[in-house]
Amino acid sequence: MTEAAVPNDGVADTSPATVEAHRATILRAITPLRPVSVELAEAEGCVLAEDVTAAVSLPSFDNSSMDGYAVSSSDTNHSSERSPATLPVKGEIAAGDTGVFQLVPGTAIRIMTGAQLPAGADAVVPVEWTNGGSQTVEIYRGVEPGNAVRYAGGDAAAGETLLRQGIRMRPMQIAVAASAGRKSVRVRPRPRVVVLSTGNELTEPGTPLVPGQIWDSNSYMIAAAAREAGAHAYRRSVVPDDPAGVLPALEEQLHHADLLVTTGGVSMGGEHDVVKAALRELGTVTFRKVAMQPGMPQGFGTIGEARVPLFTLPGNPVSAFVSFQLFVRPAIAALQGTDDLGLPSVRATLTAGVRSPEGRRSYLRGVLGDGEVTPLSGQGSHQIAALGRANALIIVPERETQLPQGDTVDVLVLP
Ligand code: AMP
Ligand code: MG
Repeated sequence: MTEAAVPNDGVADTSPATVEAHRATILRAITPLRPVSVELAEAEGCVLAEDVTAAVSLPSFDNSSMDGYAVSSSDTNHSSERSPATLPVKGEIAAGDTGVFQLVPGTAIRIMTGAQLPAGADAVVPVEWTNGGSQTVEIYRGVEPGNAVRYAGGDAAAGETLLRQGIRMRPMQIAVAASAGRKSVRVRPRPRVVVLSTGNELTEPGTPLVPGQIWDSNSYMIAAAAREAGAHAYRRSVVPDDPAGVLPALEEQLHHADLLVTTGGVSMGGEHDVVKAALRELGTVTFRKVAMQPGMPQGFGTIGEARVPLFTLPGNPVSAFVSFQLFVRPAIAALQGTDDLGLPSVRATLTAGVRSPEGRRSYLRGVLGDGEVTPLSGQGSHQIAALGRANALIIVPERETQLPQGDTVDVLVLP
C-alpha cells in the first residue's frame, strides 16, 4: 500500500504545520463580529468600531488647576514674603458653579480646582503662596499670566478624534469616551466562548474520585483563560466519550457561542478519540499535527450555518493551555477585529539547560524574573502542578534539541 492510499484519519497533512501556519489558517477563517451599540458602562473590553470625537473642546472652559485666588497677574508683580501684595477678596467660585464671574482689577476671587476662571483674571495664585485670607489676602509670590490655569481646548479641540476605531476599550478609553460626552459607543462585543471537556474519565471537582477518574480541570482553565482574554466564557458540563453525543452537545451551544472550544478526544488515532470521529464527518473541521510540544494534535474549523469557529484542543491540560494561548487567544482578538492579544515576548537567560524534541518547537514552563528564566521541573504535558508555578513559556526552536544554561532564549510572558 502506498502512503497516499492509507485511509485518512482526519489528519490533513502528515508533515506537521508550523505554529505560524496553523495560526494563519485560523485567522483567515475568522470573520469579526458585527458591531453593536453598547452603553458606555458595558463597553470595557470591547473593541471600538467607530471613531470617538470630542463633542466640545476639552476642557470646555478656562478653569483653575489649583485651590487659590484668581487674580490679574499684574497685581502680583512685586509680591514677596517681605512685601506681599494685599488684595481684597471678592467672593468665591467653586467647581460646578455655573454663573458668569467677573474679576475687578486690584481684587482677588477665591477659586477652587476645576472652577471657572472669572473674566478679567489671567492667573491663579495657589493658596500655598498666600496667607489664605478670606477678607483680604496676602500674596507672597508674583505669578505669570496663565499660572495654574487650564485653558479651554488645552486637552483637545472640539471635533478632534480622541479614540480611533479598532482600539480596545480599557479604563483609559472609557474615561475618554465619557469625557467626550458619549453615553454609548459602537463596538465589536466580547466574544461568547463555550468550552466543553470530553472524556469518560472526567468528573466534576467537588465530587469523590474513584480510581480511573480525574477531576475535569480543562473546562475551568480554558473558560478562565478565555475570560482573561476578554471573552464571555461559559463551561458546559463534561461530554462522555460517545461519538453520537459530541455533535449534538456542540450543536446545542451554537446559538449562544461565537467560538467553541473542546478538549480531549483528538489524539493520534485511538477509537476513543470521539471528537475527531464526530467532527470528521462534518467536513468543515481539519485535524492536523502542529510542530510543537506540548500540543501537537490540533483541530480547527467551523460548524453550523453561522460557521462558528471551533477549536478541538488536546486533552492533556498543559497542551490545552499552551494551545489556547497560541491559537485561541488570537482568534478571540480576531473576532473583535483586532490583533492585540498576542502574548508579550521577551529575551531572557536560561538558568539551567533544557531539552526539546527535534523538529518541534517547545514551549517549556518556566519562571521569569530579572532577565532570567528558570525551567520548571515537571515538563510533562499532564503536569499541571508545574503549570501552576509558571509565569512564562520558554521557546526552544524546532532545530534545537538542547540549550545550555546561560543561553539567551525567547520567552512568552503568561497573562
Ligand atoms: P485525550 O486527549 O482525550 O486523549 O486526553 C489526554 C489526557 O488528558 C488524558 O490523560 C486525559 O485523562 C487528560 N484529560 C483529558 N481531558 C481532561 C480534562 N478536562 N481535565 C483534565 N485532564 C484531562
Ligand atoms: Mg479522552
